[in-house]
Amino acid sequence: MALLRGLRARLRPSPYTNTVAFVVFVCLLLVGIDGLRTWNARIAQLAETRTETSNLARSLAQHASDAIGAADAVLLGLRERVETDGVGPVNLARLHRLMQARTGGMPMIHGLFVFDADGDWLVNSLDATPPGLNYADRDYFQFHRTHPDRGLHIGRPLQSKSDGSWVIALSRRLDHADGSFAGVALATMPMAFFQNHYDTFDVGRRGIIALETAGGFLVVRKPYDPSLIGADLRSSPTFPLMHDAAGQGTSFAYRSTLDGRPRLGSFQPVGSYPLIVLVAQDKAEALADWRSEARAHLSSALLIALLIGALGHYLARQIGERQRAEALFRLIAEHSTDAIICVGADEVRRYASPAFFAITGWRAEETLGKRWRDYVHPDDRATVDDSLDELRRGVGMVVCTYRYMRKDGSSVWVEGRFQPVRQGSGAGTEFIGNIRDISRRKEIEEKLAAVNAELQALSLTDPLTGLANRRRFDETVAGEWNRAMREVLPISLLMIDVDRFKAYNDQYGHQKGDECLRAIAAAIEGAVLRAGDLPARYGGEEFAVVLPSTSAAAGEQIAERVRAAVAALRIPHMRAPSGRASVSVGLATLMPDRGAQPAELVEAADAALYRAKQNGRNRVEVHEPLKRLARAAVRRGASA
Ligand code: GH3
Ligand code: MG
Ligand code: MG
Repeated sequence: MALLRGLRARLRPSPYTNTVAFVVFVCLLLVGIDGLRTWNARIAQLAETRTETSNLARSLAQHASDAIGAADAVLLGLRERVETDGVGPVNLARLHRLMQARTGGMPMIHGLFVFDADGDWLVNSLDATPPGLNYADRDYFQFHRTHPDRGLHIGRPLQSKSDGSWVIALSRRLDHADGSFAGVALATMPMAFFQNHYDTFDVGRRGIIALETAGGFLVVRKPYDPSLIGADLRSSPTFPLMHDAAGQGTSFAYRSTLDGRPRLGSFQPVGSYPLIVLVAQDKAEALADWRSEARAHLSSALLIALLIGALGHYLARQIGERQRAEALFRLIAEHSTDAIICVGADEVRRYASPAFFAITGWRAEETLGKRWRDYVHPDDRATVDDSLDELRRGVGMVVCTYRYMRKDGSSVWVEGRFQPVRQGSGAGTEFIGNIRDISRRKEIEEKLAAVNAELQALSLTDPLTGLANRRRFDETVAGEWNRAMREVLPISLLMIDVDRFKAYNDQYGHQKGDECLRAIAAAIEGAVLRAGDLPARYGGEEFAVVLPSTSAAAGEQIAERVRAAVAALRIPHMRAPSGRASVSVGLATLMPDRGAQPAELVEAADAALYRAKQNGRNRVEVHEPLKRLARAAVRRGASA
């Protein structure tokens, strides 16, 4: 199933292919439509030519029929007179006049003749006829002599014996009263009659108008070619067609046997006579106009198609380039370990690269189209909102560290770099976010912070006793001194020194000495109750306790408590007069003012300690001169 889907996705045409296909389709359509239109125009042109030739053929057939009809009427009259009136000299003279009158008024008649049964002429319409001419050899004469048929005979074209011009012979048989052959009445029609008429029609340079006998012999032809008169057309492929056309006209395409060129022709029978008119146009000539028009049309269509093609090619290339760039960007986005997200103005995620899902554990379809902020850890939403507000205010880029809620319920620290891509009105800003998983960095940072805190603590702690060390003591004294000065409160300090400790070391060894110091430190710490008080190891076997906001009286109490706590340890000390380890305590209390330094407090406490040592050890001494001052200051502070 997945394979099928993958295959379909692979086969799905890209926008580039679509564009190319569309352009090719449009070009083909354009050329196709124009081609079809042109082809239809050709068919129409051919049909028109056919109609033209057919009409002309019908008109010419009518013309020929009328002319033959008129000549035949004269011929019939002639026979009637000869057969009824006889061929006496008077009658023949009268006939000669009549015949001359007839031929003079009828252009379709060249000459009128009457022959006797031997083929010698009896009378004719000619002014002067060479004597001794015999016509017995003529086809029509032979025909009538052997055929009793009294109908009209139309023979093959022949050359006049009287003047040598080409004529068509119309003849009828003359009979004696007993029905025996008496001779022939002949009317000749001048070829020029038809020739001249046909010349008045334009059938193109290669067009043809022809009059043919039904028997397949050419009579008249335009263009005129004397060598073709009487030509035998029976072997022509058009001859059978001509026969089909004997009843009614027909149009057809054929290839001329004379010049081999394709023609469009129409045959039309000449009335009931054994003659046929052919009008044919050269196909190439008939289509010449169409051809030049088609050429112009097709070339403009091709030009337009070419333009569209060029434009399409340019477009397709642009699309292809964009596609490749898009594919590259997608490749970069999808293979980047940083996630890339695109959030719309409505705060709905439009796109998230695969890395996003790797970081958060959500699948693409589970989060797309949802408000992206919902996936931010609730504690960090305010931070993210602030960053986005900055973007909306026009800041180019914001970097924001926050947590995403992962699908498994855990959260992951990320660093998001957000850039606006389109500035909308109000909250409508689209932005691109580059999200980097920084959970590892965060982990290291946290570890580092813990180590630092530990180091910090270590740097301020005395390793032997666990009390604050000298550095912390100094910092605390300075800090508390300033605070006391600000708040106008007294500060007390105890300086504590272990009595005869050198001797203790000498007696019990350094190891035991350390143990003793640890026990004393614990006792001091236990005797100091307030959170703000700081017991510290001052150095060697000397300790100190900083007592902020503590009056001399209260300090004295604490000092005594410390001394007593150490004494209560009852650590054996053979070389001390009391036989037990003890401490001497010096107390100093001051009201810090601008003129004084913290060192003065230490010096004062030291001085008190010195006196405690002087006065026999294991005791508390208060720094007297300061004690008075401090008391006065406390009173001033209280009354103020
Ligand atoms: P006094 O009663 O006058 O204070 O006599 P003292 O012996 O305590 O005086 P002194 O200051 O001369 O001797 C301090 C001795 O404390 C010297 C040193 O051996 C010992 N001491 C200092 N620091 C340590 C320590 O960290 N461990 C041990 N075991 N002994 C220390
Ligand atoms: Mg000492
Ligand atoms: Mg000592």
